[in-house]
Amino acid sequence: MTNKELKRVLLRKNITHLYHVNSVATSCTFLENGGLLSRGVVEERGLFQTPQESDEKDKEVDVFYDIFFDSVDIHQRVKKINHYGPVLFVYSVDLLDALPPDTVRITRDNPIRWHAGMTESEKYLLTKEQLWILFEKGSFFQHITLRHQTEPLSFDYLEKVVLDDPKIDNTTYFDNAYQHLKKLMERCVPGKPLEIRQCPPACQCHEQYRSYNELYTYYRFRY
Ligand SMILES: [Zn+2]
Repeated sequence: MTNKELKRVLLRKNITHLYHVNSVATSCTFLENGGLLSRGVVEERGLFQTPQESDEKDKEVDVFYDIFFDSVDIHQRVKKINHYGPVLFVYSVDLLDALPPDTVRITRDNPIRWHAGMTESEKYLLTKEQLWILFEKGSFFQHITLRHQTEPLSFDYLEKVVLDDPKIDNTTYFDNAYQHLKKLMERCVPGKPLEIRQCPPACQCHEQYRSYNELYTYYRFRY
């Protein structure tokens, strides 16, 4: 399947943007280094990223050098905190026009449930027909991944960055993260907007942030 064919299917399924979520600290590493990076490259270059429990598993099933996207803004969709962090990078689906052939894959399931030795077709939707029938916008486990990325993914197709406001009593985590990200974006991706998340009605994230230990917020918002 070519990138052009894949983009056509995504657009027909009303997917116009690709969403990548991360912590503030890892997002700063991306901004300072010219693009989104696979976890493997961040580790290899000795850069900082917030540890993720799935790292070892990711190596085992060969996705450690992949960059992951969702087809929707999961926080908006589930009205809850996104487990991966408070920073959302929103890319235009036009990104696909600029990628080399055979870079993009759609996972059938979250790699956390994969095992080493699974075949390519067990892991991914590989044909146009499978994509048409099986790929669902908003699925939590069908990720759009860029395989084996050894260089930063350019911010050319980045439309905006969105930051959660946890609205806890101690506002310093959010205020500091916002100011830091804003300065970094002005320097590294001038003209691209940094927005504060407008939660959907009945979003539970603020209640979640308030009920968790403050360290949780610290690790997500530190930079
Ligand atoms: Zn929310």
